[in-house]
Amino acid sequence: MAGITLPPGLDGAGYDKAIKALTSALGADKVLATDLDRDTYIDPYALGDGLDHVPTAALTPTSVEEVQAIVRIANEHKLPLWPVARGRNLGYGAASPVLAGTAVLDMTRMNQVLHVDERFAYATLEPGVGFFQMNEYLQANKVPLWMSAPANGWGSIIGNALERGIGYTPYGDNTSKLCGLEVVTPTGEVVRTGMGAMEGSKSWAHYQYGFGPAWDQMFAQSNFGIVTKANVWMMPEPQTAIMAQVNLPKMEDIKWAMNVLADLRLRGIIEHNIVFGNYLHDASAYTVRSDWFDGDGPLPDDLAEKVQKKYNVGWWTFHISLFGDEGVVEAKRKIVEAALEPQLGAKLDWKVWKKGEPREPFNVNLGIPFVLPLAVVNWMGGRGGHIGFSPILPPSGELAWEAFLARKKRFEEAGLDYYCSFTIGHRHIANVNMILYDRDNADMVRRAKALFVQMIKDARAEGYGEYRTHIDFMDSVADTYDFNDHALWRLNEQVKDLLDPNGILAPGKNGIWPKRLRKEKGA
Ligand code: ADP
Repeated sequence: MAGITLPPGLDGAGYDKAIKALTSALGADKVLATDLDRDTYIDPYALGDGLDHVPTAALTPTSVEEVQAIVRIANEHKLPLWPVARGRNLGYGAASPVLAGTAVLDMTRMNQVLHVDERFAYATLEPGVGFFQMNEYLQANKVPLWMSAPANGWGSIIGNALERGIGYTPYGDNTSKLCGLEVVTPTGEVVRTGMGAMEGSKSWAHYQYGFGPAWDQMFAQSNFGIVTKANVWMMPEPQTAIMAQVNLPKMEDIKWAMNVLADLRLRGIIEHNIVFGNYLHDASAYTVRSDWFDGDGPLPDDLAEKVQKKYNVGWWTFHISLFGDEGVVEAKRKIVEAALEPQLGAKLDWKVWKKGEPREPFNVNLGIPFVLPLAVVNWMGGRGGHIGFSPILPPSGELAWEAFLARKKRFEEAGLDYYCSFTIGHRHIANVNMILYDRDNADMVRRAKALFVQMIKDARAEGYGEYRTHIDFMDSVADTYDFNDHALWRLNEQVKDLLDPNGILAPGKNGIWPKRLRKEKGA
């Protein structure tokens, strides 16, 4: 059981007063502060026991006014708050804060679908709206709009977009589909961004920039505000969609295939994020390591062939989908086939979906949430966890190959299995190097942490940085963004100190510490 850890600057008496004030403002059922409550908010995939990030309490408001009341009390008592939408940020710390003793501001109960506009294809949502909930809503109300769901659909639409998560339809760059936020600032004011800054605006969800500076992205991966509503653009249901699985037999195939796919993405022929994963990507979702190998050290390369045969996957496998009117899809299909088939020496085998048919067999590729990829945490046995090191690369086959070899070597040195994938975006690749571990194996956890630190250093030396990271490594990753002696880091801190003078909102999030707690940086 987690005992109480208080944050710096708050003693036991101050904490008791804060909890008393919160209980009287919210009611006892919205202040969760027992040992069991604290345990519940510990990261289930923590590298170790997770107590270094244990919260003091969780607060579960149901309205914007309650969020404001929490912020007011937090300022008064210097109780730091860690806002989460549904707290399912698995692999990045889940609901746990960077700084132990922070209270989790859990917005799961603010989960109303406030408005869905079929004609203009957007939804106005509260932060607690989950992907499964939204899917049910759309299906029950026969709304012809598609979501962009991530590989693990347990979380929320807004939480995912704020962390720059992705989906696999043409609307898959989730953060870019936010259009206007409502935010409670760290001093408790309610602000609407974009066109929503006008009282009674009729075009809040239609134009992202508003008048003057545009602030939506300022609230993504930051600790500058608490998002209480957001407009999210959705994809109008297409007439048809077709999908093909492509298996590449050799490790080296990445060199040519990545270049071909990057070109098809850049030209807009393929409009979705393509996940280009090694065989472990599939094997770890359906089986556990001991089904294949019980030796020490990383999985031998010659096992790859066995896995590939059993699951009809290649050394690398990816899926391509095409969406739109039939004529458009047909034209694009021919272009994709001409680009890939001569190199593959085989015909692409397309599955076809048409408007009116169920989308379930296609799942996430057509915007239906699922959780199958969560099964990868069972790979090593014991209480499993995963953590991904994900630097951003230019979309080049040659650079991807070099990065792959460099990381593979590090995984082998660490004696860990190499789960590798590349997500090909419009003009970049996110190279996910996933470490799967058994939380109960202290030596494995130690090796996983050391490998992660090593990869941060290696990638920095190559000129690459991560797009998102786990709460254990936020300062280390922020440190790699070092142009002009960390000028951007200093700018973030300046903004932080202006907006949050008492330093109460998510201290340490993405390496941004308020003045009062800056000595905790890198601690
Ligand atoms: P999910 O809803 O997918 O489970 P989380 O709730 O874990 O995702 O949110 C991921 C991260 O996004 C949080 O750690 C926090 O930094 C940020 N976040 C989520 N919701 C909000 C919000 N309403 N306001 C500000 N930041 C948020």
